[in-house]
Amino acid sequence: MKLDATDLRYVTSDEFRVLTAVEMGSKNHEVVPLSLIVQISGLRNGGINKLVGSLAKRNLVSRVQNAKYDGYRLTYGGYDYLAMRALSKRDSMHSIGNQIGVGKESDIYIVADADGNEMILKLHRLGRVSFRAIKEKRDYMGKRKSASWLYMSRLAAQKEWEFMKILHQYDFPVPRPIDQARHTILMEFIDAYPLRQVSDVENPGKLYSQLMDIIVRFAQAGLIHGDYNEFNILIKRETGEPIVIDFPQMVSTSHENAEWYFNRDVECIRTFFKRRFRYESSLYPRFRKTVEETGSDNFRLDVMVEASGFGRKEMKILEDYMESVREEANDEESSGSEEEESEEEEENESDNARDETTRTTTLDEKQQSLSTEAVEASSIPLH
Ligand code: ADP
Ligand code: MG
Repeated sequence: MKLDATDLRYVTSDEFRVLTAVEMGSKNHEVVPLSLIVQISGLRNGGINKLVGSLAKRNLVSRVQNAKYDGYRLTYGGYDYLAMRALSKRDSMHSIGNQIGVGKESDIYIVADADGNEMILKLHRLGRVSFRAIKEKRDYMGKRKSASWLYMSRLAAQKEWEFMKILHQYDFPVPRPIDQARHTILMEFIDAYPLRQVSDVENPGKLYSQLMDIIVRFAQAGLIHGDYNEFNILIKRETGEPIVIDFPQMVSTSHENAEWYFNRDVECIRTFFKRRFRYESSLYPRFRKTVEETGSDNFRLDVMVEASGFGRKEMKILEDYMESVREEANDEESSGSEEEESEEEEENESDNARDETTRTTTLDEKQQSLSTEAVEASSIPLH
């Protein structure tokens, strides 16, 4: 989905009150009745139709007519607006540049602060994949069920934020976290190629062991990335150094399936190196050995995150959601979806191939070399 930045400046303070009222009402109403919007916003009934109509015209809310009553729903556009307004009020972010990535469950934009410094804004989009499976299976969301995409996207952003903060603090090679609001995260822009786009490296053995070392360091700190693959590893342009991104699915080494997640991360790297660089090594980390050899006095980031704002309960809710989505995706795949790439295609692809079926649209050369001036020129200030 495109961010329509041009509209951001033109939301009046009354419209903003109405938008916030719709967001608040969404906590326990799938469709927020107009009467509730009136009540929460504290605005008189007379003006409200016009205000809400103008928000709907710009896709910040959408009108829903159902059997029982007419009402409004907050859209992703509206939620994006609220998050960006919060970031801009705190002076964390000033303008929006180009979109550089579309993941299955996120959109990635280059943005800038008031001095023109580039940053990355990641907007989580959970619920873009259907909620059918979850609605059928789970009722833990209780009242929140109705606003589940809002809630899940926010949880994903909060989880990613907590992990990024602590990983950065402990000197893991991850982007510097800058700010977080609602379903979004603001972080350092890494001038890099995703490993996926790298066709050749000077010393594959060196990169391979760097990447395996990171897996081991994660595990020694009590963590498993959980999606450690060529899409989530960026290779810095200047130094060739790997930077790891994308943390909403991180798990603790105490997780019941920890060994499985760990092995899958290791296997992803081994398979990729075999295919892409024809590099194979008999050396790779083993879960038990790694965990056993870690002294009990070692710092445990999994425990620290749990003690932060993002606790065990939130972790479980998000994990259940992600699992349901995965199950549903698998069901769809086995019934003939073309999401997955075949091995043969992977073998034949060219280094810069931008395959429609891949999960993320990645940075291209032009966007990577985007200068500050370019961001300024193409961007629209938020205030
Ligand atoms: P998703 O959860 O949708 O996979 P990611 O966090 O993996 O989202 O980001 C998707 C893509 O956006 C990455 O593959 C990368 O190309 C780009 N990207 C994400 N974060 C950064 C960053 N901090 N610096 C530069 N590019 C980034
Ligand atoms: Mg990713």
